[in-house]
Amino acid sequence: MIKLLPTKHLLLISGISALLAIVLIALPDEETIDNNLISLEANFEVIDQSQLMLQDLQKLTPKSSTIPLTTFSPNNTNSTYDIPAPDALVKKSSPATFKEQSVEVKSGDSLSKLLANEGISAQDIYKVSLADKKQKTLLQMRPGQTINFTTNEASGELTQLTLILNRLDSVTFERNDDKFNRTEASRTPEVVQAYKEAEINNSLFVDGLRSGIDQPLLIELANIFGWDIDFALDIRKGDSLSMLYEEKYLDGEKIGHGNIIAAQFINNGRTYQAIRYQTEKGANYYTPDGLAMRKAFIRTPVDFTRISSKFNPNRLHPIFKTSRPHRGVDYAAASGTPVKAAGDGKISFAGKQNGYGNVVIIDHGKGYQTLYAHLKGFSKGTKRGARVQQGNIIAYVGQTGWATGPHLHYEFRINGTHKNPVTVKLPNDDPMPKNDLKNYLPYAKQVVATLSNSHSPSFAQKLASLKE
Ligand SMILES: [Zn+2]
Repeated sequence: MIKLLPTKHLLLISGISALLAIVLIALPDEETIDNNLISLEANFEVIDQSQLMLQDLQKLTPKSSTIPLTTFSPNNTNSTYDIPAPDALVKKSSPATFKEQSVEVKSGDSLSKLLANEGISAQDIYKVSLADKKQKTLLQMRPGQTINFTTNEASGELTQLTLILNRLDSVTFERNDDKFNRTEASRTPEVVQAYKEAEINNSLFVDGLRSGIDQPLLIELANIFGWDIDFALDIRKGDSLSMLYEEKYLDGEKIGHGNIIAAQFINNGRTYQAIRYQTEKGANYYTPDGLAMRKAFIRTPVDFTRISSKFNPNRLHPIFKTSRPHRGVDYAAASGTPVKAAGDGKISFAGKQNGYGNVVIIDHGKGYQTLYAHLKGFSKGTKRGARVQQGNIIAYVGQTGWATGPHLHYEFRINGTHKNPVTVKLPNDDPMPKNDLKNYLPYAKQVVATLSNSHSPSFAQKLASLKE
């Protein structure tokens, strides 16, 4: 996609530009400029027709702000300089003609490859990247993004470059003498509150999508309530959901959604409500009473294909064929699958332990410990004493130590006693900080009321009948 000014206009503008250039170089002040503009008469119509382009030209010509382009006076005849006729100028190429172009970033493109293809000098490419040295935005450009750039047609010099990152963000490099100035621009979408409801007959996803709820929103919803409801096993016909969330608009067009503000899920007659609230610890979901929706631990610290060995205190060991308790659960997963910290805590061990191979142990406080074994390797920062947060990737699945295939051996200990990680009752995360609770409670009450006032009459009727 290449955008060019119409050739005819370019030529005419070249003429004017050439004149201006000469005037700028040769003449000391405004008055003399006016005196010499008489020979521009032939081009006056063009100036009117291409007002917009001239304005652009003014912007691009560094000293143009001091030139009264609109006050050219054809009546002044005291020309003291010998200026060539416009016709002669049109034929000469001019240094002040600019070409705007646009290229799409393709897979495998780098800034230098892309711009070199467009005829930009290595020197200019270097200067632009120098302006981006700290932020490295240009190094991270991705296929599908667009680069708009302007060159001086005569010299080929790059004058401006803009990388359009997405519909909202762009970064611009503007030439200033021998270097480029970098500026970022962001558009802010309009955020409006929206409401959705769904009755569940098959599954959260089937019925959610049928009710016009985007899949990403359904995933978020499943994450919010996933601590209490197993969406694969617990769902019953007659369950229902409703939620208030943010929709984002740009130029009147919906471009996506923001956060879920509040949501309600009724599962098997039991009502769960979650409200998003920002505390000093970050934004989280809480019950209307201020209890954390999330638990202090995620149930399964790895995306696994199957449980290859259950928690079993009286198991026959697969290699030694002797009675050996299996004090954890084995999650079979491909070698290299990330292993997450089950909860916030501090790493108390990261290294080799005989049959366990590479092991990480996390101390979570209050007597809780988790252990991860047979790891292929650790992620950066996984070392004794390091603090981790729930969900941080700490290591990767492997089969180090005594293992018959790649899997994660996972143990959950409370005060030194091994518990079954699959069934152990997980403690709730810390409740809302006391300082925030005072403001949160009335807010929660109001949001829950807004949510239930948003219910459609039939939906409200159904909920009412459930309660009877
Ligand atoms: Zn095991």
